[in-house]
Amino acid sequence: MSVTLSDATKEMTVRERVAELGQRILDGGKISRNDALELANIESNTDIMDLLAWANRIREHFKGNKIHLCSIVNAKAGACSENCSFCAQSAAYQTESPRYGFVDPEPVSEAMSEAKDNGVTAVGLVAAWRGLKEGPMLDEVCDRIREMKENGKSRPDASLGLIESQAVADRLKDSGLSCYGHNLESSRRFFPEHCTTHTFEDRLKTIQFLKNAGIKICSGGIIGMGEDRVDRVDLAMELREIDANVVPINILNPIEGTPLENQEPLPPMEILKTIAVFRFILPRKEIMIAGGRTVNLRDMQSMVFTAGASALMVGNYLTTLNQPVEKDLQMLRDLGLDPDWDNDFADQTTGGGCGSRCGCEEKPADTAATA
Ligand code: SF4
Repeated sequence: MSVTLSDATKEMTVRERVAELGQRILDGGKISRNDALELANIESNTDIMDLLAWANRIREHFKGNKIHLCSIVNAKAGACSENCSFCAQSAAYQTESPRYGFVDPEPVSEAMSEAKDNGVTAVGLVAAWRGLKEGPMLDEVCDRIREMKENGKSRPDASLGLIESQAVADRLKDSGLSCYGHNLESSRRFFPEHCTTHTFEDRLKTIQFLKNAGIKICSGGIIGMGEDRVDRVDLAMELREIDANVVPINILNPIEGTPLENQEPLPPMEILKTIAVFRFILPRKEIMIAGGRTVNLRDMQSMVFTAGASALMVGNYLTTLNQPVEKDLQMLRDLGLDPDWDNDFADQTTGGGCGSRCGCEEKPADTAATA
């Protein structure tokens, strides 16, 4: 016999309550923060499996059986001025992470070719530094994005840290960038516990400049840093508020030398439940499983799709090793899922209001302006 969830639903079993919330989403509704907290606090494996089944149904309803694949190329590694407690690339910690300056065009071009061969839709140019200001480095970054765009093999994305002026975001847009990765990392409450060199507000401002420029937003966070379930729900609610198009979920892989090196890992069922709660909160969005899946989920990796994930970061993720891309592609085939070869935010498939899979609410006529 399942336990009841709340006073408001005391006659309902957990199974009935999950079904009620799941059906509400399929009918076009949304769940509240309190609803999401009820789901996040489900404890029994039987009830969690029920939750996953509904998350899977919601994913299928809004995203079909297509799985969006992304990869990244580390354009500048290590020696970052910021002190994010999970990060091997911070200069504040002694880690084995490589350090090098901004890369030449060749490695980026190679990464694009490899991505194309593996059916990866987008390649993100990622740099470990505080952020981008106007100046020679911005010129170089824009050149690299332009080259990636002209190369035409994969969609160029970027994750280049904080942006503190509209002019910088506009320059990125003009160079051909369509999507920028900038995680909120955790809840507003928990963020200052893992980073003190910049604020949650700085991150929100960056996202606002990018949105003003017409750039799509890839923003999620990292779980397993010692935050609680309320923090995870609050992160997802914040991502709903900023209307992120793609929502990467990273799972902490504790790196020796960082303050989180001895952090207890989250149990796999807690990770899968978190993904499912994100799917309930963000039913139309591209929920992407990024760093830390191999080390944390091991043989349960394929269950991320049952839990509601619709996108996968493939290849190695900064300082975290994923399983080989061929194995990921085989996993998708075995599950009857298709890599989404054509996802470029303008493709007409299932999902968001514009007809693309980006999860936005735009009408089709608006799509051309931002594609
Ligand atoms: S997460 Fe980004 S900003 Fe934070 S230390 Fe690492 S590279 Fe720097």
